[in-house]
Amino acid sequence: MTTLRFASHIHSICSDDSTWTLPRLVRILRGAGYDGALVCDHDRTMTGRSWDRLREECARLSASTGFILVPGVEYQDEDHVVHLPVFGDVPFYGRSPRIGTLLEAAAGDGAVTVFAHPARRNARDRFDAGWSPLLTGIEVWSRKYDGLRPNGWALDAAAEHRLTGFVSLDFHGRRQLYPLAMLVDLPSGADQRDVVSAMREGRCRASALGLRPERFGSGLLGAAGSTLESTRRWAAPRLRRVEAAMRRRNDGPPGAGLPEADTNGASRHD
Ligand SMILES: [Zn+2]
Ligand SMILES: [Zn+2]
Repeated sequence: MTTLRFASHIHSICSDDSTWTLPRLVRILRGAGYDGALVCDHDRTMTGRSWDRLREECARLSASTGFILVPGVEYQDEDHVVHLPVFGDVPFYGRSPRIGTLLEAAAGDGAVTVFAHPARRNARDRFDAGWSPLLTGIEVWSRKYDGLRPNGWALDAAAEHRLTGFVSLDFHGRRQLYPLAMLVDLPSGADQRDVVSAMREGRCRASALGLRPERFGSGLLGAAGSTLESTRRWAAPRLRRVEAAMRRRNDGPPGAGLPEADTNGASRHD
């Protein structure tokens, strides 16, 4: 068994608001210390054919680089409030499907399903507890929407409904690079299917700067004030160093980059 680090919720050029090709994503994410990524492209720009191509390219690049790319689609409901990433080698379920129907199909096909960024447009208000038996997880810390702290509501919801708390970059550009990772316990030589199985079976956990995200939040486990305060004191200088390093980083190997503007980070939405 080995533990690999995955960057979760990564948009590629298959999304209308990202210009990142998969090979370029592999380079920068590997340089940032990840062993793989959960790719997550919008359903609104996906077709059955482009989904097949995305799955094929993920498989091909995973085999040739050793960096495990799990293909995924970020589904949205009709008025784009609920976003639901579905990861795995499963069919394309069409654009803006009904969330309950989507969850039943995706869970039945063995996919990983995640309730995304509950803070965006108050998506949390639409969370349906009846979904939880079909859900794998909930994003407790979205770098794009929660910023420097996890989402307290999501931490509590994950605990209450026994869902895996996901930490996600919602990556559209370097601005979302952050030391948030999903740690997955895998046999050696694992492929993308093993990653999906491990996540569905709960053999994974979130890491934020090497700590559980609850340590940064005001959720059930973070409620002990002294623990929270000491974590903040411990984390503050590290966060500043990480952010300075991220600003300096470019596509090259770690430390080789020149300062470069983040041209892809200011996406109009996720
Ligand atoms: Zn989204
Ligand atoms: Zn997204």
